[in-house]
Amino acid sequence: MAKRSHHSYLIVGGAGYIGSHVVKALVERGDQVVTLDDLSKGHRAAVSGGQFITGDLGDRQLLGEIFTTTPIDCVMHFGAYIEVGESVHKPLEYYRNNTAKTTDLLLAMKEHGVDRFILSSTAAVYGEPQRMPIEETDPTAPTNPYGHSKAFIEQILHDAEAAHDLRYVALRYFNAAGADPSGTIGEAHHPESHLIPLVLQVPLGQRDHIAIFGTDWPTPDGTCVRDYIHVNDLAEAHILAAQRLLDGGDSATYNLGCETGYSVKTIIDLAREVTGHAIPAQEAPRRPGDSATLVASSARIKAELGWTPQYDDPKAIIETAWRWHQGHPRGYEGGGD
Ligand code: UDP
Repeated sequence: MAKRSHHSYLIVGGAGYIGSHVVKALVERGDQVVTLDDLSKGHRAAVSGGQFITGDLGDRQLLGEIFTTTPIDCVMHFGAYIEVGESVHKPLEYYRNNTAKTTDLLLAMKEHGVDRFILSSTAAVYGEPQRMPIEETDPTAPTNPYGHSKAFIEQILHDAEAAHDLRYVALRYFNAAGADPSGTIGEAHHPESHLIPLVLQVPLGQRDHIAIFGTDWPTPDGTCVRDYIHVNDLAEAHILAAQRLLDGGDSATYNLGCETGYSVKTIIDLAREVTGHAIPAQEAPRRPGDSATLVASSARIKAELGWTPQYDDPKAIIETAWRWHQGHPRGYEGGGD
């Protein structure tokens, strides 16, 4: 990649799945990294370098201390609750964490003159889109509290930018998957809710089948279609987005996906190929809050930031996930690290 100068980053939620891959990429590039994570979901062992602080993203006093001690060029925020199904049952927790506490983080940034921000947003802001692939200019209409919690914070960023010096990039992730090819960090949610790690629990001997949530969706094989993107390609997009802001660029919103959709059944078949295991599947009811199909157009970030995904094949993505899970069958709690 192009030569770039070094900067200092606060990575909120950097002990989580995607944040930990961004921390690793930044540390490897020689940037200064401070990770803030309350470890409610994240893992200390996932943070591969830089300074680590245990704390809450809504703790403005702690944030003030961080911003006073370390000049921060850019804040990246990964510290959100992320489960669509759970958000339907626990909306208030989602709005408090993903919207209210993020507003506290933005207030602390404003108080201390920190004015560049990268948001982990989501394809869930689009709800049940009218056309595929989805472009950033398409209407947002979330179908679940998780998507709303992110759409609200995008609106808050838009308003804060108009009133203050803030500049931001909102990155609307499609389906993050895979693991760093080193096999040292990867996805470790407790409980796990995402398709690929759950499928891989079958060959790991941790579940006897995978449930397919709905086979009557209006898709070619009746199962939901998603656009899977490798976590390191997401990490690279964050670094490019930060560089845009650090170079004086304007705020922006970008989709991040590989621009091809794969059904739940196809993902299970690919996992069978990768693992050599039969992986029994059982049909189950639809999961509340799901959309039939979510596929990105990522043309905007490709054109504006030169982002190109290195992994555009879900089988290669599943292979990296399988390497991580085989080496760490219990995630970060024992079993290999
Ligand atoms: N899914 C499934 N069985 C599972 C977990 C997920 O059929 O055990 C489906 C889910 O309904 C969705 C797709 O897999 O259609 C991807 O779900 P995931 O939770 O990984 O990501 P999301 O699309 O919700 O961000």
